[in-house]
Amino acid sequence: MTIQWFPGHMTKARRQIQEKLKLIDVVIELVDARLPLSSRNPMIDEILQGKPRLIVLNKSDLADPAVTRQWIDFFKQEGHLAIQVDAYTGQGIKEIPLLAKELMKEKIERQLAKGINPRAVRALIVGIPNVGKSTLINRLAGRNIAATGDRPGVTKAQQWIKVGTEMELLDTPGILWPKFEDQNVGYRLALTGAIREEILNVEDIAFFGVKYLVKYYWEPFRERFDLKDQPTDFENPDEIVAVMEAIGRKRGCIVSGGRVDLEKASGILLRELRAGKLGRYTLEAPY
Ligand code: GDP
Repeated sequence: MTIQWFPGHMTKARRQIQEKLKLIDVVIELVDARLPLSSRNPMIDEILQGKPRLIVLNKSDLADPAVTRQWIDFFKQEGHLAIQVDAYTGQGIKEIPLLAKELMKEKIERQLAKGINPRAVRALIVGIPNVGKSTLINRLAGRNIAATGDRPGVTKAQQWIKVGTEMELLDTPGILWPKFEDQNVGYRLALTGAIREEILNVEDIAFFGVKYLVKYYWEPFRERFDLKDQPTDFENPDEIVAVMEAIGRKRGCIVSGGRVDLEKASGILLRELRAGKLGRYTLEAPY
């Protein structure tokens, strides 16, 4: 699903989440472990109005495990609970209800002291498109919850999904917009397929990706495309373009005169990257 965000959509998305906040105790903020900052909504702190929050780094199966650990430490230092999961297989998701309860610990203890039996913790999943919100809801529910997009004329009551005995989850997530102001954020989102590449130039996206990845994740590149020497000056565009050309030659993207069709080569590279053919990688590090 791709949404074109306009100011009106943002206002509506924000209002919808703020309506849902009234119903819940904790927010589960889902981000992509490969780009934990770039896949966050820029106004998230303001929108959540201080609701207790668990940050979940999803798609950790695709990310660099060492950098994911750094990100978790980073979020913890900022005072948030944070964990990594793979919503696709369900790896790590058992922690979610336990940590949601942890966030409510003081309230639960106060209730117990008054002799009140605390009810299940109520949670809402929020995040930008494509971070895996529906996948996580289905995994936590243990079944497929019908997709409930904003279809005109179709109004559906919100449902609570029981996750064990201690947590209840709203069946529709809060959908938020990504950051637009920073072009590098756009490139990172486009590299992972989170936004439509038509918005940006495909060669520019591939250039951005190659520049970062040959610096930090050279080995899988070298192996897959039979490359020889790692660039020495990553700030030199000629060296990055030379890698793109070598990839194009390897994939047969040659046009008349023996020139490499860089656009075609870029498209192929992006497909292979998104399909995980170049191994696990993270596009931004906290330190
Ligand atoms: P939503 O727009 O946030 O609801 O995102 P979806 O749940 O539709 O997921 C977007 C894409 O990411 C789908 O192709 C999912 O199969 C995939 N996906 C979701 N979670 C994971 C994960 O943890 N690992 C991997 N590899 N893919 C995932």
